[in-house]
Amino acid sequence: MIKKIVTDRKKLSKKCGKCFFLELDIFRNNGIINDMIDTAKSDKTCVGLASNQIGYDRRIILVKNETGFTAMVNPRIFCKTGGIKKGIETCLSFPGLKPKVRRYRRIKVEYQEVTGRTNWVEFYEDYARIVQHEIDHLNGKLI
Ligand SMILES: [Zn+2]
Repeated sequence: MIKKIVTDRKKLSKKCGKCFFLELDIFRNNGIINDMIDTAKSDKTCVGLASNQIGYDRRIILVKNETGFTAMVNPRIFCKTGGIKKGIETCLSFPGLKPKVRRYRRIKVEYQEVTGRTNWVEFYEDYARIVQHEIDHLNGKLI
């Protein structure tokens, strides 16, 4: 189901809590992760989404890939390299805003898949930027 995007800065400034396995089960069974995907797909400009942007306060993000969106649970950046690059960012919660933000060009992220399995992946450039933007959301940090 497509959800309304939260635009209230105060609500979005709250840090999301870790998603435990039982909660992840609830998120899966109640279709919350599917709601995130439906909501992300409903906006052609969307390249990523954090759970609190549709009103849930657990650490889950979506990141666009070649075929759709990857859900990452409890994502954690454990390596930042390649230097920092300034680039324009947009945010579904703040249409019209296009600030230049400094981000690491290359990051390695540990996360859990929706099944609960732990995975590691490396992101470069634009994708690294998206992941850093979405993880900032989970920490209540906004552009
Ligand atoms: Zn955003």
